Order: sequence, then structure tokens, then C-alpha cells
Amino acid sequence: MAEKLQAIKGMNDILPPDSARWEWFEDVVRRLLQRYGYKAFRTPIVEPTALFVRGLGEVTDIVEKEMYSFTDSMNGDQLTLRPEATAGMVRAIVEHNALYNGPLRVWQMGPMFRHERPQKGRYRQFHQLDVEAFGHAGPDVDAEIILMLRALWRELGLKEGEQITLEINSLGQPAERLAHRAALISHLEAHAALLDDDARRRLHSNPLRILDTKNPAMAPVVDSAPRLIDFLGEASRAHFDGVRAVLDAAGLAYRINPRLVRGMDYYNLTVFEWVTPLLGSQATVCGGGRYDTLIEQLGGKPAPGVGFGLGIERLLLLLEAAGLNPPPSAPDAYAVVAEGVPLTTVMPLLEQLRAAGVAVVLHAGGGSLKSQFKRADASGARHALIFGPDELARGEVAIKSLRDAAAPQRTAALSAALSWARDLLPA
Ligand code: ATP
Ligand code: MG
Repeated sequence: MAEKLQAIKGMNDILPPDSARWEWFEDVVRRLLQRYGYKAFRTPIVEPTALFVRGLGEVTDIVEKEMYSFTDSMNGDQLTLRPEATAGMVRAIVEHNALYNGPLRVWQMGPMFRHERPQKGRYRQFHQLDVEAFGHAGPDVDAEIILMLRALWRELGLKEGEQITLEINSLGQPAERLAHRAALISHLEAHAALLDDDARRRLHSNPLRILDTKNPAMAPVVDSAPRLIDFLGEASRAHFDGVRAVLDAAGLAYRINPRLVRGMDYYNLTVFEWVTPLLGSQATVCGGGRYDTLIEQLGGKPAPGVGFGLGIERLLLLLEAAGLNPPPSAPDAYAVVAEGVPLTTVMPLLEQLRAAGVAVVLHAGGGSLKSQFKRADASGARHALIFGPDELARGEVAIKSLRDAAAPQRTAALSAALSWARDLLPA
């Protein structure tokens, strides 16, 4: 036998029954986004490396150590498998002048790639739902996307405030961050002895990211650091208050987390995360915020943006931990075909049933009736359609309930499928 090949470490196959959870989530998301006026974008998985270096910032975890970057051996181009979606969305907006007719709400769902140490909730190929609203200065849209996420949790059955909670912060504007940065660097320098290597390296390049450290030894320095929120000017404060007022009016509880910074440098004003106590250290299910200079930074006409990335694997793990399962998706019927019965009779009839909306699985390949009924039971179907020689001779098919053993078997006319197809659907 030939040697077996394996998937790449940290990259997963998604097979039934797990894939049902994915389809459930995707269906709910599509319907929800449509209700808020979002349109689909599909951008490539591979982008020029420069897009992420310029877009996310050179001194970020992602760009420094997590990107799958390579040289295209055909032409020498520097390419990267996208580690996140916003930069590609913005590139596409700029390239196609997509804001020409005004603001645009867009979304996409798909794989992202980061070279991290694989563990539960952290993979090298993972998937995100990415939602972006371009051309709105806010705070209305900031609040709207947060409320849309609450609506998503509700549709999936998650208990907001318990199984998933909102944290928000404001990163202000560049000038405010600069003033805060100077104060922060002084504070960190005053405690230089307590800084770890990572922090020392970032002290002058990206001190804000030091506040996002996962090193518990740094907690005292981080907790006593000057807070960006205290450096906000009037306009930034008003924006933040505007977002909060809508969330308050909608009865959404949140925690203001002055330490909340995000992993990319492009954010300003509103940032937020939805976190869960049910997934250990992989607690952040969804993160986002406003990025009003990114479009310009990537060569477009200045326009504001706000959006989020939701980690689908983490969300599905959370749903599982919360005991929430997709609605059952068993077929309505399973077609059992006795030996010698012509498929030329069976298959056109099944096509008619499917056209009428009935989910019916054909037992392909024959075999004893006993083994076919075993398959029918295993499929979870509610009904068996039995194509036997006697029934066929009378121009009929037998219908047997697979759920209710006491229910009598009945017959139906092959020539009038549309008149009884509906009986196979759930009540
Ligand atoms: P973390 O702090 O957990 O590394 P992050 O700040 O790097 O997260 P973002 O870049 O904000 O994450 O991505 C948005 C979401 O995508 C995260 O909140 C998470 O749910 C998910 N995510 C990020 N990296 C991974 C990964 N390697 N595997 C699975 N999901 C991920
Ligand atoms: Mg990360």
C-alpha cells in the first residue's frame, strides 16, 4: 500500500457530524447580515506581503512571527497567506473604488493563516467571519455592529452576560495616543527592571502593545500604567459616549476595559472584544473596532471604517461548551429499492419529490432489504419509501414511518407524487 499523507499540523479537516455545526452558524450569519444591509465580498487568500506589513504594522505579533510568507517561485513576488481579512477588504475597496457611490457594508467568511503553536481554539488555518462598514464616521455604526453581534448570540442561543460578554475601550486619535505614549514610556522606563524581553524590545516601537502582554509577572507594571482613556480629548470622548449611549439604550451590559488594545496597529476610537469564561485562555471569540486611517494608508481616498473578526472555531467550541446544537438535519425520507426494481421508475419519482422540497436519500447499490432498512434507520430519516415489485405492479410505492413503529404502512400512487409529497415533510 502507498504511504498515507496527512494534513498539515494545525490545519483541520471538517467532516460530518461537526460540519453540521458550521452550516448552522453560516446559515444564521447569512440571514442576519442580510437584515442589516451587508453585502458579500470574496477576496483572495493570498495577498502581497507588503499589504499586511503596511496595513497591520511592522511591530505586531502577526507580522513579526505569525505570517505564512513565501516567494512565488515563478516570478519572485513576495506573497503571504492572509492572517486576517480587513487589510484585503480595504485593498479591494481601494482597487475597485468601491466607495464611489457612498458608504458600503460588506462581509466575508473564510480561512485565515497564522503560524502559531496549535492548541484547542488556536490553529494554523482557522476561519473568521469578517464584517466591515466603510464610509461611516460613527458612532452609530460602531454601536450597530456590536448590537448585531448580540443578535447573533441570541439567535444561536448563547446567554449574553454569562456565556459571552462585551468589553469596550476607546483608543482615541493619533495625537492623543502620542501624548499617552510619552507618559507610558516614562512609566515603563521607571519600572525597567520589571519588564520582560518582549516589553523591552517594544518599549520605543510599540509600547501600547506591552499592555496586551500575557505575562503575569508584568501585571503590576501594566496595572499601574497611565490609561489612554484619560488622555482622550472632547471629540473622542463624545464618540465613545455616543456608542455607549446606544448600547445602554438597547439594554446591553458591557465592561469598559481601559487595557483593551488590539493586535493590529490600525485601530482608533472604538475597540471591543466579546469574551467567554468557557474557553480557558482562548477567551476572545470576536474582536473589532474602528480604523479611520487604514484606507488612506493603503492608498485610497480617506474614508472611515469599522468592523470585526469573529473566530469561527472558537465560537463553535463555545456553542458546544454551552450545550447548543444545530437543529437536526436528517432527511425526510430514505428510498429502499428491492432487487429487480427498475431505477428508471424510482429515480424520476425521487426527482419529483426533491423538486417539491422533500429531502430524500436513495439507497444506491442494492443489497438485501434488511441491510437497506438498517441504513434507513441510521440515516435518521422519518419515513422509508419502499419500492417493491408488488407495489410497483400496482403503480404504487409503500410509505413506512421509521419513528412510529405503531403507525400503519400505507401506499401512494407513483403517478400523483405531488399530491402526497407534502405528507413527508415535518409537520
Ligand atoms: P489571541 O489574542 O487569542 O491570539 P488575536 O488578538 O490574535 O487573538 P484577532 O487577530 O483579533 O485575534 O482575530 C479575531 C479572532 O480570530 C480572535 O478573537 C479569535 O477568535 C480568532 N483567532 C485568532 N487567531 C486564531 C487562531 N490561531 N486560531 C483560531 N482562532 C483564532
Ligand atoms: Mg493572536
